[in-house]
Amino acid sequence: MPTITKSTCCYCGVGCGVLIESEGDRVIGIQGDPAHPANFGRLCSKGLSLPLTVASDVGRALYPEIRLDRHSPRRQVDWESALETVAQRFADIARLHGPDAVAFYVSGQLLTEDYYVFNKLAKGLIGTNNIDTNSRLCMSSAVTAYKMAFGADAPPGCYEDVEHAKTVLFAGSNMAYAHPVLFRRLEAAREKNPDIKWIVIDPRRTDTAAMADLHLAIEPGTDVALFNGMLHHLIWEARIDTGFIDRSTDGFAAVKNLVREYTPRIAAEICGITEKDLIQAAEWFAASPASLSLYCMGLNQSSHGTDKNIALINLHLATGQIGRPGAGPFSLTGQPNAMGGREVGGMATMLAAHREISNPGHRAEVEALWDVEQLSDKPGLPAVAMFDAILEGKVKAVWIVCTNPVHSMPDAEKIRQALQHAEFVVVQEAFMQTDTMPFADVVLPASSWAEKTGTVTNSERRISLVRQAISPPGDAKPDWWIANNVARRMQAQLQPDLPDLFPFTSPESIFNEHRKLTIGRDLDIGGLSYAVLDKQGPQQWPFKAGQETGQARRYVDGLFHTDNRRAQFHITKYQAVAEVTNARFPFHLITGRLRDQWHGMSRSGRVAKAFSHEPQPALTMHPKDAERRGFKADQLVTISNKQAKMTLPLRLSDEVKSGTVFAAMHWNGQYLNSGGINEVIAGKVDHRSFQPELKHAAVRIEAAELP
Ligand code: SF4
Repeated sequence: MPTITKSTCCYCGVGCGVLIESEGDRVIGIQGDPAHPANFGRLCSKGLSLPLTVASDVGRALYPEIRLDRHSPRRQVDWESALETVAQRFADIARLHGPDAVAFYVSGQLLTEDYYVFNKLAKGLIGTNNIDTNSRLCMSSAVTAYKMAFGADAPPGCYEDVEHAKTVLFAGSNMAYAHPVLFRRLEAAREKNPDIKWIVIDPRRTDTAAMADLHLAIEPGTDVALFNGMLHHLIWEARIDTGFIDRSTDGFAAVKNLVREYTPRIAAEICGITEKDLIQAAEWFAASPASLSLYCMGLNQSSHGTDKNIALINLHLATGQIGRPGAGPFSLTGQPNAMGGREVGGMATMLAAHREISNPGHRAEVEALWDVEQLSDKPGLPAVAMFDAILEGKVKAVWIVCTNPVHSMPDAEKIRQALQHAEFVVVQEAFMQTDTMPFADVVLPASSWAEKTGTVTNSERRISLVRQAISPPGDAKPDWWIANNVARRMQAQLQPDLPDLFPFTSPESIFNEHRKLTIGRDLDIGGLSYAVLDKQGPQQWPFKAGQETGQARRYVDGLFHTDNRRAQFHITKYQAVAEVTNARFPFHLITGRLRDQWHGMSRSGRVAKAFSHEPQPALTMHPKDAERRGFKADQLVTISNKQAKMTLPLRLSDEVKSGTVFAAMHWNGQYLNSGGINEVIAGKVDHRSFQPELKHAAVRIEAAELP
């Protein structure tokens, strides 16, 4: 009989529960967990193929490796040598050049406990806020907007809302591919009630858009104009909820004044859609007893991502579509634990438990809870600025954990140069075949899915246990263990007089310390423990001491987390994409995801059948654009802009509008003669969230010159 281990899928932010079937140290099968409230037993193609990703040791990071200099190959070493080397080099560099000369670049795929130890190591021990995460590329615009509008991070609603909503507005989300199991719940709700309206805002006719009652194929980056135009119409037609605005919000008058200039005709012109469609969307949104917005990278990965989020939240506040079943803005988390990373404060711009670096009171609270002397009040370097600082020589050592920045960051060549320039690069990874691995001076082999224990928080603030089912291969270790063991060695060198900051012996001991830091905060989990999660199953936060269950929805009483408990409207003016098209670079390049692949394919690329849906990289172009240029399907074309050039086969489809081309972001250096589509993404960042514009570039397309 196989052993069954309850755990959680490690791919997307839906956070589905799984039952892992194992025999000895082999995973032999997987099923959806019927008792998990995210998926009730369902899994998508990615989740179902998880056993294949741990089926073989081939390509796994198995043993620590070190190279003595950049001209030598790495050689296998024991853990003691690897831990000592990392601790020594980081401590030396921090002593010689100051704490801000080191940096950590971590991942939304780490477990909360892993994140916690890295965050405490950087901020509590070394004294730098230079710890950022690939969640910066994913959710930071949504975080910034939630904090600005509601005074606190995280979506107000829960997954049950998809079953209560009567109008669903998808913005910049191909949910059918990116969050498939939650999407199936929406489909099931609409099968029961065909009157439910779906509005999809996306420049491309994705599979999600193809199922919409109304698809608004807007020009890339024009979302703010659209939302402002919808709000203009609703104000003009007196379809707003003045009672809610008066009772629970501030700042409406200024927004009302701003959107005067966004008449539906002007807004529709900016967006490249009809005025009739814009008005229809506004009417369905306001007239519905419950309107739910589900949004993701199309809003977030933008140089104006915060504005896009805010403009949509303005629409919800103006119509009172928030705080009741089926109504509210709901950002879909991309990664499985982007939320948990925020909870422990594992980003350059925040402290533990949603505290602020800039707030002296918050710093003092964390200092007391951690028993450390003084936290830095200097904000850390967010992802793009961190790699800029490495290139400039200001940051000399970087520790990259469970992420592949050479593939996932914008301007891939700049990231390669930065890592080449760094004095010391540590890569902590489960897989060897990443575009970042060649730059590692030290490789720290990490446990992967099914091989480690901890917790993750999904898109609806629900914390689930991730449980170990098998032993990791070779000498791979859990991420928290690696961080903790380096941290202990560093403390002996840097802060020997402080009490032991890293006494952790298990993920549970880390969770128990993390829980203490949340007490009294908006995400208070003082009543949660591994025992409660074990007995009662996954729980939403807040879950205070004395509560029997978590809180499904926030703001149901119309009271928010701002100082005066009122939600805040903000002015959002439409601004064009960072790179506008012109005669030299006439095409909008937009990027997105495939159904069966995940991120840079280091995990999903191990599954042969994941290639049956889309077997090869391609650039999708409208047939008319191809005809005008004399291009044929499948021919090789070059995509270029000021910073880079790359080659892809051409795919013809009217799913993209004329003037727009599309490429999936997954394909990496293993499949291309370059590092992936992010070679040509400049990645200008949003000035408030620091999230880069990964979704768009202005490019030229030409026939490839074949050798
Ligand atoms: Fe995993 Fe997301 Fe698929 Fe659920 S929907 S099985 S969490 S990839």
